[in-house]
Amino acid sequence: MDVEDLRLAVYRTFAHEGRAPAAVELALELDSSTEQIGDGLRELAAARHLVLDADGRIVMAHPFSAVPLGFAVMGTATLWWGGCAWDSFAMAHLLTWEPDLLVATRCPACETPHAWNVGRTGPPPGDQVAHFLRPAAQMWDDVVDTCGHQRVFCGEACVEQWLQRTGNDRGCAMDLSTLWHLASGWYTGRLERGYQRREPAAAADYLRSVGLSGSFWGL
Ligand SMILES: [Zn+2]
Ligand SMILES: [Zn+2]
Repeated sequence: MDVEDLRLAVYRTFAHEGRAPAAVELALELDSSTEQIGDGLRELAAARHLVLDADGRIVMAHPFSAVPLGFAVMGTATLWWGGCAWDSFAMAHLLTWEPDLLVATRCPACETPHAWNVGRTGPPPGDQVAHFLRPAAQMWDDVVDTCGHQRVFCGEACVEQWLQRTGNDRGCAMDLSTLWHLASGWYTGRLERGYQRREPAAAADYLRSVGLSGSFWGL
């Protein structure tokens, strides 16, 4: 079995059905054993294409998530868990057959609901603030926890209130326009064969190109 076939099969199910495929489904589709699928999934997870739980089930294939992380994303006929703020905004750029996506969340500080129509032509209007807690160098230490702490707040006051209440240090706050630009090209090519994750230097160039800087991003 070609692991790139496996990667594409996982992404296809997430993209078109809004859920992670089970190992038995993948085994049928790729004419393999569930052991071979398990080995392939672990190889993809080691290369950070996927995140698996302790039982080897798929939890995330960025920007897709099989678990709730604070965002719901609705298309024409499909509903997804949105991953983090970055992932949720990225899905509109990756799922090009959808005209736009409805992204919904709650402010972690005060539970006010927020929703945007996110498309590919420009950032949605709104004066909310995205806040990422874990610095880039630590994002993969526990990436599910990291994504769970990349949220959108009503504004600066709610970010500050939440940081105080939870005893966390400030991470990186950005407006919706920066979030949208960050999300716009980050996952380009993930649904296509031969996708390669960015090398660190290319990732740094990309982050700079959307206006991010500073030690949080390792720049
Ligand atoms: Zn994320
Ligand atoms: Zn709030």
